[in-house]
Amino acid sequence: MEYLKAVLNNDKAKEIDNLKILISTGKKLNKNISKYESELNKYNKENKKHIKIEPIKIEEPKKIEKAKISKKIKEDTDNYKYTIKSVESRNNMVIIDFKSPVSKNFIKFSEEKAKSGFQDIYDIKGSFKDAHPTKLKIDGVKQIVIKQETPTTLRILFEDNKNLKTIYFFVNNKRLILKVLDVEKENKTTTNKIVKKAKKVQYRPGLNKVVVIDAGHGGKDVGAVGPNKRYEKIVVFEVTKYLESYLKKRGYKVYLTRNKDRFIKVRNRTILANEKKADIFVSVHANAAHKSKVNKLNGIETFFLSPARSERAKRVAAKENSSDVRNMSGSTKKAFLESLNRPRITASHKLSIDIQRNMLFSTRKIHKDVIDGGVREGPFWVLVGAQMPSVLIELGYITHPKESKRLYNSKYQKALAEGIANGIDSYFLKNP
Ligand SMILES: [Zn+2]
Repeated sequence: MEYLKAVLNNDKAKEIDNLKILISTGKKLNKNISKYESELNKYNKENKKHIKIEPIKIEEPKKIEKAKISKKIKEDTDNYKYTIKSVESRNNMVIIDFKSPVSKNFIKFSEEKAKSGFQDIYDIKGSFKDAHPTKLKIDGVKQIVIKQETPTTLRILFEDNKNLKTIYFFVNNKRLILKVLDVEKENKTTTNKIVKKAKKVQYRPGLNKVVVIDAGHGGKDVGAVGPNKRYEKIVVFEVTKYLESYLKKRGYKVYLTRNKDRFIKVRNRTILANEKKADIFVSVHANAAHKSKVNKLNGIETFFLSPARSERAKRVAAKENSSDVRNMSGSTKKAFLESLNRPRITASHKLSIDIQRNMLFSTRKIHKDVIDGGVREGPFWVLVGAQMPSVLIELGYITHPKESKRLYNSKYQKALAEGIANGIDSYFLKNP
C-alpha cells in the first residue's frame, strides 16, 4: 500500500525506499521479487545517467473551474436585469440563452396537478424583456406559458392532459435546455403519421453510442451491507438493469459486465469496455459509512478517476478497491498511470457532473431531501485501464436507515436510473 501510494503521489524517493523494503522482506519470505528488483535497477540506472524523471503533471480542473464559476455567479446575482438573452422552442426543447454563466441554483422545478391539466413549472432566476405567454410551442404539448413571474424570476410552464416528462440540462454554462421526453408517447391524440415524423426529427444524442455499465461487486463479494441485510450488489444490479433498458430505448448500444449475481474480478470489468470500444464506462455502487456515522452520512456522489488525495475520496476508494489492491501488479500500475491523461480526466469530469446533476433532479421529484454529495475525484482501480471517459457512481449510503430503504424501492431505483440516463444524454448532446 505504501509503495502504491508513493507511485500515485509521484514521490520518487518514497517509491525507491518502499521498493527496497519490498525486496528485503520479500527475500526473507522467499517470495519472487524479480519485478521489484528490475524496477529498482531502472531507477538506479536512470540516476547514474543523470536523467531527470519528469513528474507527471496532472492539473486539478475541478478546483480551478469551481473558483472561477462561483466568482462569476456571485457577480451575476447582484445584477440580473435582462440576464436572459433569448428564449426559443426547437423540436421538443425550449432553449434559453443567458448573457453570462449560470448554475443549477438558478432553477427551481415543481410539478402540479391543476384543473386544466398536469403542469411542469420551471422558475428561472433572471429576467427577459420579451416574456410573452404565447411565444413557445412544442408538438404534443398542449400549452407552454412563458412569463416574468416576478421582476427576478422567469417562469416557463409546460401544461398537458398527460403527465409530461421534462428534464433540464446546461450547455457551456450559458445555455439552458428544457426538454420534453418522448412527446409522441405521451400524447394519445397524435396520429400515427405525426408519430413517425416526430421520431425522425427527435434528436437522439445516444444513437449508436456504446455504453458499458458495470454493476459493482456480485457473487461472493456482496459489497457494502446495510440494515436488514440489504446488500450493495443487489441494489446496484437492479438499478443497472433499469438503466440498461432506458438507454437501449434511446438508441444506445449497451453492454453489462455482469448479467446476473456473479463474481467478476475488477480488472476484467474494464477489459470488456475496451473490447467493445465503449464510448463511456459507468460503474455503479452504493456507499457505506463507518458504524459511528450510519445515521449521519447519506446522499448521492459521483467519482471520476484521478490521483486525488482528499480524505473522503481516499476513504471511498479504499472501500471499493479493497478486494483488488492485493493483486496489484507492475503492469496494472503502469495502466493506471497511462489512463491518466488530461483529455480523459476532463471528459470523465464532465460526464460526472452531468450524471450527478440529473440523478439529483430525478430523485428529488420523489424525495426533496436527497443529499448532493457532489462530484469528486479519486483513485478507483475499477476505472483503471478503461480507455474511455469513465465514472463511478455511489447511488447512496446503504448503511443509512432511511436511504437504504429507498435504495431497495423500485420507484426510487427507476428514478436513479432515469437520472443517470438523462445525464448520459446530456453529456453526449454537448460532446457528440
Ligand atoms: Zn461498491
